[in-house]
Amino acid sequence: MKRIVIKFGGTSVGSIEKIINAAKIVKRRHEEGNEVIVVVSAMSGTTNDLINKSKKISEDFSKSELDVLMSSGEQISSSLLAGAIIKLGIKARSWLGWQIPILTNNIHASSQIMQIKTDEIVNFISRKGVAVIAGFQGITEKNRITTLGRGGSDLSAVAIAKFFQTESCDIYTDVDGVQTTDPSINEKAKKIDKISYEEMLEMSSLGAKVMQPSAVQTAMKNNIPVHVRSTFSEKHGTKIVSENDIEDKNIITGITYSKKNAKVSIVGVVDKPGVAADVFEPIGENNINIDMVIQNTSLDGKNANITFTIKQEDLKKTLSIIEKNKKKIDYKKVTHDDKLAKISIIGAGMIASPGVTHKMFRSLADEKINILAISTSEIKISVLIREELTQKAVKTLHNTFGLN
Ligand code: ASP
Ligand code: MG
Repeated sequence: MKRIVIKFGGTSVGSIEKIINAAKIVKRRHEEGNEVIVVVSAMSGTTNDLINKSKKISEDFSKSELDVLMSSGEQISSSLLAGAIIKLGIKARSWLGWQIPILTNNIHASSQIMQIKTDEIVNFISRKGVAVIAGFQGITEKNRITTLGRGGSDLSAVAIAKFFQTESCDIYTDVDGVQTTDPSINEKAKKIDKISYEEMLEMSSLGAKVMQPSAVQTAMKNNIPVHVRSTFSEKHGTKIVSENDIEDKNIITGITYSKKNAKVSIVGVVDKPGVAADVFEPIGENNINIDMVIQNTSLDGKNANITFTIKQEDLKKTLSIIEKNKKKIDYKKVTHDDKLAKISIIGAGMIASPGVTHKMFRSLADEKINILAISTSEIKISVLIREELTQKAVKTLHNTFGLN
């Protein structure tokens, strides 16, 4: 007998009809002889609606109360799904995070799971029951409700796979699997059959929305095989596995983009040790994430320009922090641009194939797309371009790297 986790995303339980469909999938997996633990996300749109309600009270709504509010979405979907499974003649029961409990740290709205108690649920599934667990939520040692960050029911599923030592973790969603790029901007996107944890981590961090990055990280750390697949067909989806388990590797596996990036350049800062630290320290202290950084020295070696990128929504605050910091960092001027996109090509195969970088740049140049900043890691290259050129860039690169 196999023990499995199956997770349904918001669109897979987005209506009563869809919940009944999900219950049928659970029934089938149960009848195959598996011990089934189901993890469920809130019905699509619910979490956003709840957040919007809180914003009407305050843009700065208490984070701990927001967690109580947001977690209610999964209470609805888990009970409806458990009820639908019972209706199909199978023993089932829902569990909220605190009832298990799923213990987290106390960082509200982006908690990490520390421990999951397993005995009660193990007992239930070993007696042919299906456990339906509300994703996205947990509880602190002090009995406060927490949530795991947007998209966090993926993390619930993977962590449950880890603590219950299940054989597999299936993520049921509204697409066939992980795609080579976003099909809504490139109709040539194709499903990827197998992808490594490392590649998937880059893909999800750089814009692919199928899986939450911390969920991928947890799967990678614990070597949990994940299968991303469609709720609406029985087709094989995408297996996320360790690199050694992938036979035929492409140089580039996928292309992602993220819009709403902003770029700030601080022109004419004095070139001496400690300047970059002085620039970035107060920005970091305000919880603003810096993404790409470029520093260039001027010809006389006295002044430097520091350019960096952040999320568009952080631009205003960042500019005011720099302004306030003027006494300490002494610069000539600050320029900024806020309609930029980051396009990334990802592939473990690039480690062993030189020439990927220039191929990418040449292909963008041929389309007259100007590159504003570049950053690389072993398995990805990202470029910053004007936002309106996103689709053109993605299509070109998809073709250049043989993904069409
Ligand atoms: N319902 C939560 C959200 O919308 C968690 C999830 O869907 O994974 O972020
Ligand atoms: Mg999701």
